[in-house]
Amino acid sequence: MDARWTSFALWGLGLLWSGLFGAFAAASWQEGERRAVRVALALAAGGGLLLGAGGLLPPIVRAGLLGLAGLSGAVFAALFFLPIGKVALGNDVPSRRFDERMVMFARARLQPGTPNYEAYYRQHPEHKAGDDSTRARPGLLSPRARFANPFLFAAAAASFEVTEALHQIVDGPPAPRRETLSSEAMTAYLKSLARYYGALDVGVTELRPYHVYSHIGRGPGEWGAPITLAHTYALAFTVEMDFAVMGAAPHAPVVAESARQYTEAARVAVQVAAALRNLGYAARAHIDANYRVIAPLVARDAGLGEFGRMSILMTPRQGARVRVGVVTTDAPLIPDKRDLRFAAAVVDFCNICMKCAETCPTRSISFNPRQEVDGALRWRINPDTCFRYWNVVGTDCGRCMSVCPFSHPDTAFHNAVRWGISRSGFFRRVALWMDDLFYGRRPPTKAPPAWMQVDAEE
Ligand code: SF4
Ligand code: SF4
Repeated sequence: MDARWTSFALWGLGLLWSGLFGAFAAASWQEGERRAVRVALALAAGGGLLLGAGGLLPPIVRAGLLGLAGLSGAVFAALFFLPIGKVALGNDVPSRRFDERMVMFARARLQPGTPNYEAYYRQHPEHKAGDDSTRARPGLLSPRARFANPFLFAAAAASFEVTEALHQIVDGPPAPRRETLSSEAMTAYLKSLARYYGALDVGVTELRPYHVYSHIGRGPGEWGAPITLAHTYALAFTVEMDFAVMGAAPHAPVVAESARQYTEAARVAVQVAAALRNLGYAARAHIDANYRVIAPLVARDAGLGEFGRMSILMTPRQGARVRVGVVTTDAPLIPDKRDLRFAAAVVDFCNICMKCAETCPTRSISFNPRQEVDGALRWRINPDTCFRYWNVVGTDCGRCMSVCPFSHPDTAFHNAVRWGISRSGFFRRVALWMDDLFYGRRPPTKAPPAWMQVDAEE
């Protein structure tokens, strides 16, 4: 190669390198990621070395550097396509229906001395001591909780009140006249309608028996009554939780954001269900504290995401930073398919990452591989210790969600990394190393937006 071209090539590489990391530093500044800004700026400065090398080093050394860069690129490309980190998904479909009375949130509502309390702990004495201990803590949104903040707790309570008001209209009789469309057209219309109302991603699945709780544990209806749901399809959707607010986990802003997005999911679900009933179809919205279905399981089967180590839904573009809403119906719909490549990528990444497990303040997240639960391979957190912590701090914590590498914002930089993560086991290992480098193994809690930095005057 002409000696001048080795200089141009090194300058080009230097500019590309510095430009890339400079732009990443700017994006990280906007995201409030101070450590990532420092690391990216240091790497951007490294591009200056290449610029200097292009002007100062002898031609033979410049050619050698270019050869080294080319070889590194070729090795990286070859490793990208090697079958590293292949995992067998195995069976991840539960073999039986789950009783909602056993869900932590349902157990927490049992009042000592009531018939339901006596009945439940007669059947499950193994839960009694732990649940009584949880009930003895200050409680979610309690002014006595460790992270109590009257302003943000009032905001969260307001959202929960609105969601509760929506409980009255999750269901109803369909209109006598039924409007018909082909399944394809009906599916496309309902997905667009859900997005129009505020949903982010929308998917459809056939409603399967294991999606439906076996007995009522919360919400309207008789506690312990068997659940029958004669619907054939479920439309599931996500709403996004604010990245900047979630960075403040486990402090008070997080519960305000969770409650807001529960309300958002409930509002969208109630509207979609009402629209379906106006078209003459049976439809029920499944919203916070008033579910008949296991919403994350429905959302997974509708192709919206997969379960990771935190045992909650991880979506391709927001990770776990979402809330899920579901509408079940007898309208004819076309189901979506799960993305099994993404499923395998999540399992492999969670096998090596463990950031949530290391950061969890109560060690509620397992460090072990997936285990069989009800016949399905999955990770399962310890809901008792997790929920007890919520009742100590007064918020729903969310620390695991905020540190997860999948939870970064939906931007070109992060999506490029997500693209590589879903396609290459080698890249997943590089991406994890980069995540630790840019954000830290245990990312610190960040300050919430300025308007949320409010507290009671002494
Ligand atoms: S933090 Fe890591 S291990 Fe935990 S869910 Fe996210 S990717 Fe998986
Ligand atoms: S919400 Fe908090 S306590 Fe619960 S598993 Fe996540 S990090 Fe742990």
